[in-house]
Amino acid sequence: MITVVGSINMDLVVSTRVFPKQGETVLGDLYTTVPGGKGANQAVAAARLGSEVQMLGAVGNDAFGDELLAGLEAGNVQLQAVERKDGASGIANILLSEGDNRIIVVPGANHKVTVEEIEVHKHLLANSSVVIMQLELPIPVVQKALEICYEHEVPTILNPAPASGFNSELLKYCTYLTPNETEAEEIFGGNWQQALEQYPNRLVVTLGEKGAQFYDGEKHVVITGFPTKAVDTTGAGDTFNGALGAAIAENMPFAEAVRFANAAASLSVEKFGAQGGMPVRDAVMERMA
Ligand code: ATP
Repeated sequence: MITVVGSINMDLVVSTRVFPKQGETVLGDLYTTVPGGKGANQAVAAARLGSEVQMLGAVGNDAFGDELLAGLEAGNVQLQAVERKDGASGIANILLSEGDNRIIVVPGANHKVTVEEIEVHKHLLANSSVVIMQLELPIPVVQKALEICYEHEVPTILNPAPASGFNSELLKYCTYLTPNETEAEEIFGGNWQQALEQYPNRLVVTLGEKGAQFYDGEKHVVITGFPTKAVDTTGAGDTFNGALGAAIAENMPFAEAVRFANAAASLSVEKFGAQGGMPVRDAVMERMA
């Protein structure tokens, strides 16, 4: 069983020809609501690849909460550890204009998850094959979950996004850390390549279409990405993390697990939407063949 401890959001996406200036109102072109949140996305990615997945997190008692839970259930994500909180579900207000975006995230119920709730669900974490986390829940919650997993020798993947929430204590307890290049720079500075050597086979930096890089104890290894025609890269990182979790839960050797994650993520960028493009296992195997 893979457990994802993370955020569940509704993405409110507005496409507009121009962004409004301060104090201005403009007419937009299109409005859609799309389930998202890094936690939910990574859970759906792993479930679509055939893994057994449960989530630990929260939604609000609003209509978005109903919709988000129904979506996760339809995606075969088990929800017994997802709480309903008074008030609003987490949302991401996303403005899109000519390839540019402006995003405001309001954490809502996600930030109402408590350390005590993690304690209550300790047994779920301790009995997991892999636990996947990000930084969209309160940091003490993430820290607690990591500590429990560490104590029970359960492998963990920490996707340190958004990187502003990161602290070095988290790195002490996670098994794998998976920043993208921007996050790696924010955490380790411009010389993050050197940090790779400090954390062999633990720190994996994703490089967009170029793939992902780690240090194997002797040399730097770049697992090259799978070239494809990208339509929408939203959720590429989430697919990578969900797939890496699925592969590690199956005890795939590390380099192969990263290649599997690259293949899954490359398929996800071929379709619109974060969860919409996440591939099933057969498609990933075909790409890797
Ligand atoms: P995002 O924020 O867009 O979800 P990210 O910035 O967290 O992604 P990236 O490093 O951009 O993370 O991408 C994650 C993985 O997705 C890469 O390691 C790679 O495997 C795959 N990927 C991303 N972009 C492409 C692309 N254009 N073509 C093929 N694979 C891609």
